[in-house]
Amino acid sequence: MRGKGKETTPTCSCGSKTNLKTSWTDRNPARRYVECANGKVDGCGYWNWYDEEMCERSKQVIPGLLRRINRVETENETLRQQILKLQKKAEKMEDKVKNLKEKLGRKKVKKMVIVLFVMAWTIVNASMWIWGPNKGQKFGRLQIDGY
Ligand SMILES: [Zn+2]
Repeated sequence: MRGKGKETTPTCSCGSKTNLKTSWTDRNPARRYVECANGKVDGCGYWNWYDEEMCERSKQVIPGLLRRINRVETENETLRQQILKLQKKAEKMEDKVKNLKEKLGRKKVKKMVIVLFVMAWTIVNASMWIWGPNKGQKFGRLQIDGY
């Protein structure tokens, strides 16, 4: 009955094919059965077990295991969603940090430009005062000199 690969299901007594299905009841967990492919309404309503009946111990243990698997899968899904949320948050934070860094960088450049400008202005003025054509005239130096 059980074979590797594709399972072959018997032909129904009404002549149509049968479909292989799986029972998930507590009494017959994961036990497969065949059913008339035409269904209960249009077909003959035939069905029969495909797998052997399980031993009592399996019937007792398997439903509990299935419930445990379901619970773990639900927990997994919850954790996966939480991870996705955290990843999105982390991406947003990274973007914010990037923006802040850019802003800080621009501020630094602005400061540097101002400092350089002031320095250049000071040097130009100082050199004009020292070597310029009207020596000592800048900053009202002449008046002080001529005092
Ligand atoms: Zn049938």
